[in-house]
Amino acid sequence: MSRSNTELKAGDKVSIQKPADNGKFTDAGQVLVKKELGRGAQGIVYQVEYEGKDYALKWYFYDNLKHPDAFRGNLEKNIKDGRPDNEDRFLWPQAITAAKQYPTFGYLMDLVPQGYIEFDKLYMGYEWKKPKEKGQPAVKETYRFGSLDALVTASINIVKAFRSLHGVGKSYQDLNGGGFFIDPVTGDVLVCDCDNVAPDGENFGIGGFPGYMAPEIVRGVAKPDVLTDRYSLAVVLFRLLLRADPLEGRKVLASVVLTEAKELEHYGSAPLFIFDPDDPANRPLPGGNAAKFWPILPSYMREAFTRSFTAGIKDPNQRIIEKRWQEYLIRLRSDIIHCTCGKVTYSTCFDHHEHFICTCRSCGNKIYTLQIKDMLAPLYAGLKLYRCYTEDVEDFETITGEVLPNKKDPRIYGIKNLSTKTWKAKFPDGSVREIPPGGGAPIWKGLVIDFGDKIGARVLS
Ligand SMILES: [Zn+2]
Repeated sequence: MSRSNTELKAGDKVSIQKPADNGKFTDAGQVLVKKELGRGAQGIVYQVEYEGKDYALKWYFYDNLKHPDAFRGNLEKNIKDGRPDNEDRFLWPQAITAAKQYPTFGYLMDLVPQGYIEFDKLYMGYEWKKPKEKGQPAVKETYRFGSLDALVTASINIVKAFRSLHGVGKSYQDLNGGGFFIDPVTGDVLVCDCDNVAPDGENFGIGGFPGYMAPEIVRGVAKPDVLTDRYSLAVVLFRLLLRADPLEGRKVLASVVLTEAKELEHYGSAPLFIFDPDDPANRPLPGGNAAKFWPILPSYMREAFTRSFTAGIKDPNQRIIEKRWQEYLIRLRSDIIHCTCGKVTYSTCFDHHEHFICTCRSCGNKIYTLQIKDMLAPLYAGLKLYRCYTEDVEDFETITGEVLPNKKDPRIYGIKNLSTKTWKAKFPDGSVREIPPGGGAPIWKGLVIDFGDKIGARVLS
């Protein structure tokens, strides 16, 4: 190890700087190193204390930085700019260590809170942990999402974060499974490793991560930007929803050892989507996750992935923009049916013999369809309406309504208004009733709900 790759130890104090009102970085006290949290190729992350609160300090292996001065300058710019859109899903750099105290430097960010799991671990589903006592066998810890809803919500949150970032003209440049932490119960997402974020068109040496990199970067003809981020984002979403790699099929697996030349072929010069409709040469192995989950994804999601990894694999401008992913995924979330028999899955796993009615294959329960704006959603007890359904806004987090079973007769459903606005229910007999905030109305075939501002929902049959 060279001198520049100085490591820190518990008890060390490191001076930090923050931007003052005039934009200049000025001394802002010291952080106290408490312990090492982890290390990678770029550096080490320490837990440190600053002004009575614990933070994470990412500390670089200076010699591994390709353009250290430019890298530091970019980091300072990101600290000055702050998080895009005040998006608190980013574990954004908050302060930088003073330049002269050590041969290298690092930046300060919030710690990942308890309960958040690294994306890669959720993708694998487990990890082997060191036993508490020496000589004991390793302990297998399993990781899984609390629900299908949480999984889809996590996908929505990832897309939202990247939409904000791209919206301020920056790209992330290194999307990969180690860059996200997810709360598997709620689907809440934290994006870390924001130190490579740079204005679109600029690059400070990072190339990306194998498997996530756009083919033109693998081929060496492009540098990371918003368009290559979009390729990586499609890989992240594919991996999240199908727990499989979009390019790892028969053709790739036939190479026993993935040599550099083979990697360049499979991920750079001749990448082939495992479900390419025109070329079946790289189909996934039967019985694997890809083969299992692909058929149950609704068609609009399969089409989005197909476009991303066929037309979009060659032409960066054909890649799906974040706003579109957001719409598809919000639709996907409302396509998850919670049947009264306990079955929870996408509506594609239900029978569709009758128009606008689907039938549970386990219990025979019939599920009607609710049309909200121009979207069709299965109508089941527990269906949540979000503010983006009932108002003309993009808020897909605030719940404004819920479908609930009647207390006396659970076969009858009602809709509860959880918004702050008064809705109107128009019944098939022509009568109209107001639904104030907190109030509800029984659901009948033909019922029309007027949310105001010309936005409505209708029970189809
Ligand atoms: Zn059922």
